[in-house]
Amino acid sequence: MNILSRREFLAGAAASAAALGVAASAKGASFGNPDRPPEGRINGKSPTSLDDPGPKNPDLAKQFPSMQDPPPTDVNGMPLFWASFNNAHKRIQNGGWAREVTQADFAISEDIAGVNMRLSQYGIRELHWHQQAEWAIMLEGTCRITTLDESGRPQVGDVKNGDLWYFPAGLPHSLQGLGETGAEFLLAFDNGRSTEFNTLMLTDWVAHTPPDVLALNFGVPADAFKNIPLDQKWIFQGKDPGPLGADERAVRSAKGAPPHPFVFPLSSMAPTRQSRGGSVQVVDSGNFNASKTVAAALVTVKPGAMRELHWHPNADEWQYYLKGEARMTVFDTGPKAQTADFKAGDVGYVKKSLGHYVQNMGKTDMVFVEIFKSDHYAEVSLSDWLRHTPPQLVMHHLNISAETLAQLASVRPDVV
Ligand code: MN
Ligand code: MN
Repeated sequence: MNILSRREFLAGAAASAAALGVAASAKGASFGNPDRPPEGRINGKSPTSLDDPGPKNPDLAKQFPSMQDPPPTDVNGMPLFWASFNNAHKRIQNGGWAREVTQADFAISEDIAGVNMRLSQYGIRELHWHQQAEWAIMLEGTCRITTLDESGRPQVGDVKNGDLWYFPAGLPHSLQGLGETGAEFLLAFDNGRSTEFNTLMLTDWVAHTPPDVLALNFGVPADAFKNIPLDQKWIFQGKDPGPLGADERAVRSAKGAPPHPFVFPLSSMAPTRQSRGGSVQVVDSGNFNASKTVAAALVTVKPGAMRELHWHPNADEWQYYLKGEARMTVFDTGPKAQTADFKAGDVGYVKKSLGHYVQNMGKTDMVFVEIFKSDHYAEVSLSDWLRHTPPQLVMHHLNISAETLAQLASVRPDVV
């Protein structure tokens, strides 16, 4: 079943503007918040309950308007669901660098750990493997990947800007920046505790295996390995690997190629949903068959529009912001509601089934990717739910008129 075919991903510019108008005119009216509980600036009657005379870093503070001055509908508190690569420590070597956001410093992020990596032109991330699956989206340039599946079937591929790869847990692989601009990409591991700085590396293993065992294993004299590096290479500067075809011929196996490619051309995929408010491309094991443990959606939201109120019944959502400015409010039991702001390079996280929206707060397109530890993408839309619930039942919950409910039901994201 294609759940997306009957669902609006994005509320349109006109619809969200209308909603803002409604909110503004309802301010002070008796509709619950901001009156109960009395949280938010609007309830601060004493002047010194609102100012902020203590130590501060204004340049940093102004990046977070929703933290400094939350909307009055925010209530209570919740674990931080904002993180960023912008202030993540870079490990730099000749050939490139990497930085990461893992559960070690982003406690809420149980399902996914993120890595942002740069490889120079011909820079190499050395042959390695790890206990987690690795999903990636290219952010710049081109990257040549190599891998081998558990049936001994190799794949070499050149992955260009906007495209994806996925390596199942435990499969060995390498990465190399190609072309004049090298490569930059985002990696998502399907375990929040995993880290880029703790992977199983070819150089480490060979350096820590007795020479006579290497000789026996490979059928060569022990001194064939006398020049092996004693320290892991991790990222290092390489040379032009030459044409893809030559590498493909060099790795060819009688066992053939993997049945499902480990790369996916997302940059040339048609949108799964498109409206006046933006577009979304959903990639999961249904179209990217190899990606058995990671589902993703690349979302573009136009200025004035937003990703509508919704939740995901099957998995936590890990977000990476590629472009523009956004704010998101997460709703939890309690009630709890908290709003945070996001810019390019930032990371957001929403626990499974918690309600949220993502609003474009800038004047340009806002682009982010939603990543889930699941074989499939799933969501429930609030407006879809209300449209397909008996009207009397909805009216009795929200104290709205039949006329208002009919208007809710007629809102379409692609209608001005
Ligand atoms: Mn890896
Ligand atoms: Mn979502």
